[in-house]
Amino acid sequence: MSFEKTQVLIIGAGPSGLLAAREAARREVDVLVMEEHAEIGLPCHCAGLLSLNGLGKLDVPVDGPYVQNKVRGAVFFSPSGLSFKVERQRPVACAVDRVIFDRFLADQAVKLGAEIRLRHVIRDICLKKDEALIELGNGGFKADVVIDAEGVSSRIVKAAGLEALDPSRLPSGMQFDLACVNVDPDYVEIHVGRKIAPGFFAWVIPLGEDSVRVGLGCREANPRDLLNRFIERRFEEEKYEILTARSGRIVTSGPIKKTFSDHLLIVGDAAGQVKPTTGGGVILGGICGSIAGKVAAEAVKRGKPEEGFLRLYEESWRKELGKEFRYMLWARRIFDALSDRAIDKLFELIIKEDLHRIVSAEGDMDFQSNILSKLLRRRKIFKLLLPLLRLYHL
Ligand SMILES: Cc1cc2nc3c(=O)[nH]c(=O)nc-3n(C[C@H](O)[C@H](O)[C@H](O)COP(=O)(O)OP(=O)(O)OC[C@H]3O[C@@H](n4cnc5c(N)ncnc54)[C@H](O)[C@@H]3O)c2cc1C
Repeated sequence: MSFEKTQVLIIGAGPSGLLAAREAARREVDVLVMEEHAEIGLPCHCAGLLSLNGLGKLDVPVDGPYVQNKVRGAVFFSPSGLSFKVERQRPVACAVDRVIFDRFLADQAVKLGAEIRLRHVIRDICLKKDEALIELGNGGFKADVVIDAEGVSSRIVKAAGLEALDPSRLPSGMQFDLACVNVDPDYVEIHVGRKIAPGFFAWVIPLGEDSVRVGLGCREANPRDLLNRFIERRFEEEKYEILTARSGRIVTSGPIKKTFSDHLLIVGDAAGQVKPTTGGGVILGGICGSIAGKVAAEAVKRGKPEEGFLRLYEESWRKELGKEFRYMLWARRIFDALSDRAIDKLFELIIKEDLHRIVSAEGDMDFQSNILSKLLRRRKIFKLLLPLLRLYHL
């Protein structure tokens, strides 16, 4: 059997893997990315709503060819139709075409020296004392450090003996791009409630004045049926046209317990590095991917690809994002336990106390811990949620 040798091998050419590749390649080590599909970015599962601040943190231009529309806020709708708006004067987020976005990241990585091989499925890993072995039939790869960026259905996390996500316990998502609708291009819509989207929410992301990406996530229900029902209600007056349909599992369970081992780092959806409140994983998973790329390159250069050194990756991302994931996970658990009546009460409070203005001024799409703790410190909100706070020992 012949084994090709590389220094850093990355499994999966999604945003987390590609940003890891870019950062490792920038540090002049050999980087090989293996992608199972024939094209980068396809099939696409994502709504592509990304904050402009977040893109800046990833060192990715906010005006790239992938940007379809920019928005400056969101309107939230309760089960009974109460609503409030969270907004800024200037755009805060954009809808991106994930296929073009992922290809842009791939180009960045390749320009810095990374190699990407398509149509390569990695099925197993063997962590030896001196290297990681990836076996592919009658040959394979030897790598100093492997970065697993396989997304939500990672095989490698389990094969390496680490505790993996259980995709069957995550909400299922479904979305369509619709043309010929009439929407405000400046605002995303978020619709919550057990009848609309049990266990998650429905979204309407404007792609312009006459097209949207509309989707929802849910638990224990059929997302396509619920989405069809939602679209009929939301766009009942309009003769819309369905352009594309996408589906996928949405990670809301927070990070897995351990994201490193000898010769191995886990990043992105595979590591659960996704906002449990919104299911957005491109920015935070991308930040973790970038950290992984840097640590992997450093490990190769120092000749220290073992656990003792690679734990630096987990220490770094937990230092930057650990508190964010903790707060967002609490918020998700509390929200999942609220009845539609309780959600309506929460909306009433927010509107009555003008809290959406505080969120408008101080909220951050990716770093939500400050605003969540500020809202929770409000006496009336605290009182409303107290039974659930006790239930979850918060
Ligand atoms: C319906 C829906 C809407 C979403 N909307 C948003 C949003 O608006 N904003 C946001 O930030 N996030 C959103 N997300 C989440 C976002 O899509 C993910 O968090 C993000 O794509 C994770 O990036 P990743 O690189 O970790 O994994 P992925 O993007 O899943 O990439 C993994 C890659 O690895 C490849 N691969 C997997 N296994 C192997 C293997 N064994 N060998 C070789 N290649 C392999 C796959 O083909 C894929 O290309 C949404 C998710 C869903 C399901």
